Amino acid sequence: MLNIVLFGPPGAGKGTQSERLIEKYDLIHLSTGDIFRTHLKENTPLGILARTFMDVGKLVPDEVTIEMLKAEVVLHSNAKGFIFDGFPRTNAQAEALDELLQSLSTEISIMLSLEVEEEELKKRLLGRAEVSGRTDDADPVIIERRISIYNKDTAPVKAFYQAQNKLTAIQGTGTIDEITHRLFTAIDAL
Ligand code: ADP
Repeated sequence: MLNIVLFGPPGAGKGTQSERLIEKYDLIHLSTGDIFRTHLKENTPLGILARTFMDVGKLVPDEVTIEMLKAEVVLHSNAKGFIFDGFPRTNAQAEALDELLQSLSTEISIMLSLEVEEEELKKRLLGRAEVSGRTDDADPVIIERRISIYNKDTAPVKAFYQAQNKLTAIQGTGTIDEITHRLFTAIDAL
């Protein structure tokens, strides 16, 4: 299996690039943000719970997120591979993912980390708010909180994969095509 963690701060371009990667490599795209947003829209119990965290820019608790992700992976256990987008976002999630994949006799192949500086991220998120209608993108205070939680809880996940020699940093600025090309090159070198 080809299992990719597509990593990076809010607004780094994970969603956009995931679309390109799933097409080229025939992978299942698991975006925890997208899955939560589907639950939100349908007002499921999980959606109602997740909303209280997402709307204010906090992480949904690990137990909840991990259970949801596990169920999605098991549902597609005969896939060619996965792109994990927006997961893992904490070291506890990374450990749970390793265990889960091990139980399926597979593992993470590579972590691709999209590197974009903070000023650019803030600009992109405010721009996205105009089209996405996402409340967590529209408010500079909430954007600030998401970035600071990223720096504190999520950025350490890079060291987790670096310790396994799986981290590849990718410059996340330039045209969308240029970034896609960098990602393809890193994957094809595996
Ligand atoms: P972003 O553009 O900020 O990367 P996402 O669409 O990936 O946003 O996620 C939106 C929100 O969903 C996050 O701010 C968080 O509240 C929640 N969320 C998504 N993935 C996770 C996760 N792995 N762990 C905890 N919360 C998550």
